[in-house]
Amino acid sequence: MTVSDRPHRIVIVGAGFAGYHAARALSRKLRHDDVEIVLVNPNDYFLYLPLLPEVATGVLEPRRVTVSLAGTLPRVRLVLGEVHGVDLEKRRISYTDPEDRQGSLEYDRLVLSVGSVNKLLPIPGIAEHARGFRGMPEALYLRDHISRQMALASTEPDPARRRARRTFVVVGAGYTGTEVAAHGKLFTDSLARQHTDHHDEDPRWLLVDIAPRILPELDRRLSRTSDRVLRQRGVEIRTRTAVKEATSRAVVLDSGETVDTHTLVWCVGVRPDPLVHDLGLPTDNGRLIVNPYLAVPGHPEVLACGDAAAVPDLTRPGQITPMTAQHASRQGKTAAHNIAAALGHGKPRAYRHHDLGFAIDLGGVHAAANPLHIPLSGPVANLVTRGLHLSTLPGNRARVTNDWLLNAVLPRQAVQLGLVRSGSVPLDTTAPYAPLTPSHSRE
Ligand SMILES: Cc1cc2nc3c(=O)[nH]c(=O)nc-3n(C[C@H](O)[C@H](O)[C@H](O)COP(=O)(O)OP(=O)(O)OC[C@H]3O[C@@H](n4cnc5c(N)ncnc54)[C@H](O)[C@@H]3O)c2cc1C
Repeated sequence: MTVSDRPHRIVIVGAGFAGYHAARALSRKLRHDDVEIVLVNPNDYFLYLPLLPEVATGVLEPRRVTVSLAGTLPRVRLVLGEVHGVDLEKRRISYTDPEDRQGSLEYDRLVLSVGSVNKLLPIPGIAEHARGFRGMPEALYLRDHISRQMALASTEPDPARRRARRTFVVVGAGYTGTEVAAHGKLFTDSLARQHTDHHDEDPRWLLVDIAPRILPELDRRLSRTSDRVLRQRGVEIRTRTAVKEATSRAVVLDSGETVDTHTLVWCVGVRPDPLVHDLGLPTDNGRLIVNPYLAVPGHPEVLACGDAAAVPDLTRPGQITPMTAQHASRQGKTAAHNIAAALGHGKPRAYRHHDLGFAIDLGGVHAAANPLHIPLSGPVANLVTRGLHLSTLPGNRARVTNDWLLNAVLPRQAVQLGLVRSGSVPLDTTAPYAPLTPSHSRE
C-alpha cells in the first residue's frame, strides 16, 4: 500500500502513561475520521508503575497493575515491537517484534512516548551488583529475591551471614526508593513471622540518599511524614550519604561503614529511553526538546511527551516539566488534542498543568499525601492515595481493591516462583520492560 491510498496514519511509540492516554484520546476524538491509530509497544499492556512497589512486596498480584491494550483501546491497532529507528525524512519507523522479526511502518504523524530507563552512576560494582526498579521484571525478581533471602537466612547457622541475608539496602530516597523501603520492611517483617527460627532479629532495611532529606524533590511536609513513619517502622535512614562501592556481599558507604548485604536496590532516578539519543535531535538533560505544543522544532508532524520529552513548564518559566505520571498522562492527552487540531478538529493548545500534589503510599495504613497541596498523613492520606490510584488506573480497579482488602486480613502469600533470575534484570538495560534471556544466573 502506498502513502496515498492508505488512511492518514498516526503512529504512537510507547504505551505508558503518555502513549496510552494519547491513543485513547485520539481514538475518541477521531472516531469518525479516516485515520488509523497505531500503537507500537513491546508488551500488550499498559503498566501502572506507581503500584509496582506493591507488586515487589507481595501486596498486589502482577497482573493487577497491567491493563490490556487490546482490551481497552478497541479502535487502536496494536503492533507488538520495540522501535529502534526513526527515519524523519521518509517518515518511517523500524521495529523488532517479540519473535525478532523486523518491521517498518510509515507515518503521517508520530508521537514519541518511550519513557525512561534506569540511571547508572559510575560507582564501582553498581552495574554488576545493584538491581533497578523501572519495570515488571525487576519487581518480580525483587519479590522472589527478598523471599529467598528470608528463607535462606532462616536456616543459616552463622549469625553474621544470617544478618547479611536479612539486610536490604535501597539507594535513592525519591518516591520509588521510599515506597520500596516502606513496603519492603513490612514484607520482610511478615516473612520473619512465618520463618520462626530467628524471631529475635528484625530484618534490617537502609534507605540511603546523598540529599539532606528523603523525598528531596517533594514538599517538606511529605518528607517529614515519610521520615517519621519509616523510622518508627525500623528503617534506617542515611541522608547526606553516598555509596562508594558495591560487591556481591556488601555495600560500602562514604561514611566509612560497610553494610553486609545480598540486596542492593538502585532507585537513584531515570534517564530518557536511549531511542531519544539515537534520533540525533536536540535534547535537554537527555530529553527530546519540544515546543509548548509538544511538537519537535523543525518537524511539526512529530510530537513527544512524557519522560522522554523536555516539555517547557509554562507554570514555572525556564524549567521543564518533571518526570511524573501526572504530567505524562496529561501531555499524552494534549498531544492527541493537537494532532486532532491539525486534522481540523479544534484549535491547538499549549501544554500547561499546575502540579496537583503528590501521594506516597507507605504501606499498612500509612501514606503521605498533599492533594491540592493540603498535607495529609496516616489513614486519611492512605485512603486518598489509594483513591487516587484507583481513579487513575485505566482498568482492574475491582481486582486491585480486592487484593488490598484481602491483604488487610490475610497473611501475605510469599512463595518464590523463580521465573525472573538476577542475570535477567541487569541494571544497565535499555529495555526494563523485558527480562533478558536466557539467563545462566543461579540466583
Ligand atoms: C516504581 C515507580 C513508581 C512511580 N510512582 C509514581 C507516582 O506515584 N506518581 C507519579 O506521578 N509518577 C510516578 N512514577 C513516574 C511515572 O511512572 C513516569 O513519570 C511515567 O511512567 C512516565 O510516563 P511515560 O509515558 O513517559 O513512560 P512510561 O510510562 O515508562 O511508558 C513508556 C512506554 O514506552 C515503551 N517503550 C520504551 N521503549 C520503547 C521502544 N523503543 N519502542 C516501543 N516502545 C517502547 C515502554 O515499554 C512503555 O510501555 C513512578 C515511576 C516508577 C518507576
